[in-house]
Amino acid sequence: MKKLLLILIILSALTFCTEQNKEALKETKAEALKENIVRKGEIDVVTLDENGDEKLWQCPMDWNVLDDKAGNCPVCGMKLKEYTLDETKANLIKHGHKVKGHETPEGVKDDHGQPEDDHKGMSHE
Ligand SMILES: [Zn+2]
Repeated sequence: MKKLLLILIILSALTFCTEQNKEALKETKAEALKENIVRKGEIDVVTLDENGDEKLWQCPMDWNVLDDKAGNCPVCGMKLKEYTLDETKANLIKHGHKVKGHETPEGVKDDHGQPEDDHKGMSHE
């Protein structure tokens, strides 16, 4: 009987540990979410504008740091500046970041592909 009690104690202790771990994990996740305004890869400024005011806060030093509300840059600590979506997009493109919905020159090559004969005629002019 004592053995059974011991097992029960161990089991409850294990469950407690797991619960604590979950709690800790949740906190880390929330923390990461809060700090994760450093955008990577293709940046979709329209999606980032959650409140739909067509404005975003952007770090004038780290252009890929974007948030929908005022705050400080987690990279350099500067206050974020408010820009319109068009301005943030232009800033990102100007500084070599990828913006969703913005066609890169390589991406539009096919659309502007012209028949070879046309091209020859043009260069002949
Ligand atoms: Zn910064």
